Amino acid sequence: MFRNTLFTKLLFLLIIGSTLLISGTYYLAIPLIDQRIYEIEERAGKSALDNFYVLLQQTKQDLAAFETYSLNSHKEKLKDIVNIASTCLDRIQTTHNQGNLTLEEARAEAITQIRSFKYSHNDYLYISDYNGNLIYHPDPNLNETNISELKDINGKLIILPMITKAKVCADVFYDYWWNRLGEKKPSHKLTYAKDLPRWEWVLFSGVHLDDIHNEVDVRKEKLIHLLRDHVRTSKIATEGYLYVFDGNLNMVIHPNSNIEGTNFSALKNPASGESVGKELIEVAHSGNKSLKYKWDKPSDPGHYIYDKVSWVRYLPEYDYYIASSVYLEDLQSSGKYLANRLFQLSFVTILLLTGCGLALIYNVVKAVKTLAAAANRIVSGDLSSKVIIDRHDEIGQLGHSFNQMVDNLKDQINNLEEGVKERTASLSLMVDQLEQHNVETSMLKEANEMLQECRNEKEVFQAVHLIMKKAFPGKHGSLFSLVYEGKRLEIVADWNGSECNITRMYDHDACFAMRRGSSYVLENIETQLPCPHVASPAEAYICTPITAYGETFGILHLQHGVKDNEQSAKILDLVENIAENIANTMANLRLRSRLQHQSIRDPLTGLFNRRYMDEALRQEESRASRNDTNVAIIMMDVDHFKRFNDNYGHEAGDEILQNLGKLLHNHFRESDITCRYGGEEFIVILPDLSLEQSVEKAELLRLAVQDEVYIYRFGEKIGITISLGVALFPTHEPDVYSVLKRADEALYRAKERGRNRVVCANAE
Ligand code: GH3
Ligand code: MG
Ligand code: MG
Repeated sequence: MFRNTLFTKLLFLLIIGSTLLISGTYYLAIPLIDQRIYEIEERAGKSALDNFYVLLQQTKQDLAAFETYSLNSHKEKLKDIVNIASTCLDRIQTTHNQGNLTLEEARAEAITQIRSFKYSHNDYLYISDYNGNLIYHPDPNLNETNISELKDINGKLIILPMITKAKVCADVFYDYWWNRLGEKKPSHKLTYAKDLPRWEWVLFSGVHLDDIHNEVDVRKEKLIHLLRDHVRTSKIATEGYLYVFDGNLNMVIHPNSNIEGTNFSALKNPASGESVGKELIEVAHSGNKSLKYKWDKPSDPGHYIYDKVSWVRYLPEYDYYIASSVYLEDLQSSGKYLANRLFQLSFVTILLLTGCGLALIYNVVKAVKTLAAAANRIVSGDLSSKVIIDRHDEIGQLGHSFNQMVDNLKDQINNLEEGVKERTASLSLMVDQLEQHNVETSMLKEANEMLQECRNEKEVFQAVHLIMKKAFPGKHGSLFSLVYEGKRLEIVADWNGSECNITRMYDHDACFAMRRGSSYVLENIETQLPCPHVASPAEAYICTPITAYGETFGILHLQHGVKDNEQSAKILDLVENIAENIANTMANLRLRSRLQHQSIRDPLTGLFNRRYMDEALRQEESRASRNDTNVAIIMMDVDHFKRFNDNYGHEAGDEILQNLGKLLHNHFRESDITCRYGGEEFIVILPDLSLEQSVEKAELLRLAVQDEVYIYRFGEKIGITISLGVALFPTHEPDVYSVLKRADEALYRAKERGRNRVVCANAE
């Protein structure tokens, strides 16, 4: 499994991922959690302090409210008592007014009633008249004395202000400092005074405010007891706690009851050497700061080595400093604990995930291996290979799709093979056609080249023979040339048949191709007429006219015997191409011949002209010199030709000159050169002839002209005679023009001697 590349890669990735995750958790997440937990614990410490601070504030408010309530309650109580006593005195006054009691009796009764009123902690009522004379007072030292001038310890008049205000307002509360009954130390007292106008007295009763303060203190003690319980039960982190001390560094509330009430101003912060209490007070007044210092632990008392942090707030209403303190390691312990747990949890999670990942990778890789193996088998050509993955997930679908893909591939390959076969066949056909076309093209090229090399029609006929034999092996055919001024068709070449057909003649219209001016194709002898020139048609044939520039030269005939239309059309195409090439060649040859003829021939007689004569003379001179042979020159002139013209007209002169030309042409050998020298003068150049033979030839010519050259005019046969001069190169002169001159001189002699005779240069 470990050799499997994909598995190894995925496993490697998994290990890398797990390692990164664990490292990331350890180095990134855990310090962050530590920090966050520290901050949370720190906030919790501050929050505990704030809560306790608020609680103390509320306690203060509660005490203030209680004090107010207690005071009001005492005031009501005073009012009630004084009012009850007042009602009693009113009743006594009424009794007096009714005459049932004398004034003295009434007065005594009133004092008796007032004396009997005692309540609370030895509190009492007393009466004064409007002048400050005490009618009754439980203190015997004061009873029936005038205290209008009496002042309290603060120098404040006691009785008269109350009398005055009571007379005006009917009643009044007034405070001053006064000794309790039987006591010498004055205390703050609140007195209620009520005016009794029927008696012209004022009735008083008071309460010592100490009593109220004592009640408040009792309540305060209870509250502090509750707060102490709260402090002792409050925990910051694990070992942190709250404590309260006053401005004199007396410990007011502390979880350790032994420390409560002690003064810790002597305790110093080991880190700074300053009083820790003073530093705490400074921190309380410095805002939301904390104090870090070294302190001992309850579990390790006396060793001030533990880092501790305290937050302090000042409550001025009580002059209390409320502090919450906690050990730094305690603040960090929760974070560390949580981080440890988190690390363990993440480690276990990663282990589990790695296990699951491995199982998943193994599962996936196994399926992928199956797929890869199948793919390899397909690559090696085994298209029957199938992937067998029995799964209902994406990999199962992949296997299924893979199988379908292979099936499609198989179908496509089959189709492709069919297509390739068809295409190959088509291409092969095209190649064959192209090859055929190339063969035809090169054959036509060769044919054209061969034809272009031909210098006369005879060569052309031979070339056509070769070309057709090569182009259509085994197929019989003939080349017909139009002769006799287009009136006859003569077989000039014949191949793959009987050679004896050559020179056979037909009428020019013995071929349908000649009649119609285009190719005639015979494919079916039962339905088509054969050309008359085809004796017994046994197979299909083609006749194509050989035509160029409007001139028809003959017929190209081929018996191919092919019945297939397509093939037949190709043969026709090829035959027509060859015929066209033949026609062009023939046209060129004839044009060339005509041009050459025109340039060297005299148009009237058809004999060579004087230009050609000059050339021929030079050539024959050179050849004779080279071969050490002779060249004879016969020069002739028509006798009295002027007279002939005069007598019969110029046209008759031309006509007889033409006849003379023909005779000259026929009279001499092909190697002899007959030229019209000018007017009615002619020259014959006779190579390789002796002087005697030349003279003899001249003589024969003279006789022939005399007998054979004539015309008819007005039913009269009119002839001519000629005079001739003969000279021989190099016998008479070393250069041919001098010989020509000698011949001319000989001719002149012949004229002189009576005309119609031959004179030889030697004969002079
Ligand atoms: P001779 O026997 O001395 O040669 O007498 P002749 O009349 O032939 O002599 P001449 O040279 O004086 O005259 C030649 C004549 O030939 C003159 C000219 O009219 C005629 N002639 C020359 N060329 C032609 C031609 O092409 N056609 C015709 N019809 N006459 C020609
Ligand atoms: Mg002449
Ligand atoms: Mg003449």
